[in-house]
Amino acid sequence: MTLQHLLDKQYFEKEDIVQLLATEGEEMQQLLQKAREVKFARLDNYVHLRGLIELSNICRKSCLYCGVRSDNHKVDRYELTEDEVLECAQMAHKLGYGSVAIQSGERNDKAFVEKITRLVKRIKEIDNGALGITLSLGEQSDEVYQEWFEAGAHRYLLRIESSNEELYYKIHPHDERHDFARRLACIDSLLKIGYQTGTGVMVGLPFQTLDVLAEDLLFFKKKDVAMVGMGPFIPHPDTPLYQYANQIPSAEDRMNLTLKMIAVLRLMMPEINMVAATANQTVDPMGREKAIMAGANVIMPNMTPNEYREDYLIYPDKACVSDKPEECYSCLDIRMKAIGHQILYNAWGDSVAFTKKISKLVN
Ligand code: SAH
Repeated sequence: MTLQHLLDKQYFEKEDIVQLLATEGEEMQQLLQKAREVKFARLDNYVHLRGLIELSNICRKSCLYCGVRSDNHKVDRYELTEDEVLECAQMAHKLGYGSVAIQSGERNDKAFVEKITRLVKRIKEIDNGALGITLSLGEQSDEVYQEWFEAGAHRYLLRIESSNEELYYKIHPHDERHDFARRLACIDSLLKIGYQTGTGVMVGLPFQTLDVLAEDLLFFKKKDVAMVGMGPFIPHPDTPLYQYANQIPSAEDRMNLTLKMIAVLRLMMPEINMVAATANQTVDPMGREKAIMAGANVIMPNMTPNEYREDYLIYPDKACVSDKPEECYSCLDIRMKAIGHQILYNAWGDSVAFTKKISKLVN
């Protein structure tokens, strides 16, 4: 099938997606352009911000790709105090970001759960609920997800990391703490509770094929998620997966593959929120802009107090680690304007796909 025919199709089969992910050069540019046009038509040129607060790098898991895995003993572990988190949230509000995202290593203990509940409630008190709240705190019980939802969190990010069980176990230990079925069940639980649920994968992992990536996109569609985050895999020298660092695609190829994944998904799910992950900027100084131009519409500027950022290196050479929040603010504004986009300040920036789905259910 010619590219033009393919791009005009209403629904993509797996083979179509594989063909699109394999495009290069001029054909790849056509794909990205089509995705951009669809985004402009459905979501305008808005970019939504989530002030990212990296609450803690203390983690009970040992994912084979992640720099803050519990078995990496080189990491100094930290946890922000409630007041520090509140200060970040207030700063996000002052800068007009509209939403915050709290991310952390995974913990399930009672003290952690209760701290999050209190924090969500306290953030909601800022200017009468002005800030939207996204959580990205790993796998939890249905009850805990419910408790945080009732406290006021309305979005949750939990990447499936790979929808292919075999690949999942190549990038995670295979034990009771790292269980593919459990991760899937968590995503289902979040959807059922009513969160705007986000998931996603890393792109360019060892053993990852175009076939597997196509299945990932079909998985997002099947689950009808509201948000997706996809970024290039960046090998961290203090992790087991680093041994394959010379067997994965080049940084440029991982970047391009990420852009194609974003673009194809924009065509498949035109109104979801998709983040231009910071990892994009680590492999390419213009990576976030490129992701926005390929169909992403969300950016998560880092609000973590600078003294802790060096300790939240899930991957090495993370971008913007030394930037102050105010610098980030004006830098992003300029960068987005330069590529014909505008940041929508002081708005939650909810997923349009989700909002429409809910209003259909209600009416
Ligand atoms: N503990 C939370 C947050 C994890 S960090 C959770 O489990 O959901 C957020 C995301 O960073 C992960 O889901 C993973 O997809 C990504 N990530 C981790 N290590 C990475 C690496 N080396 N390169 C690129 N992305 C990475």
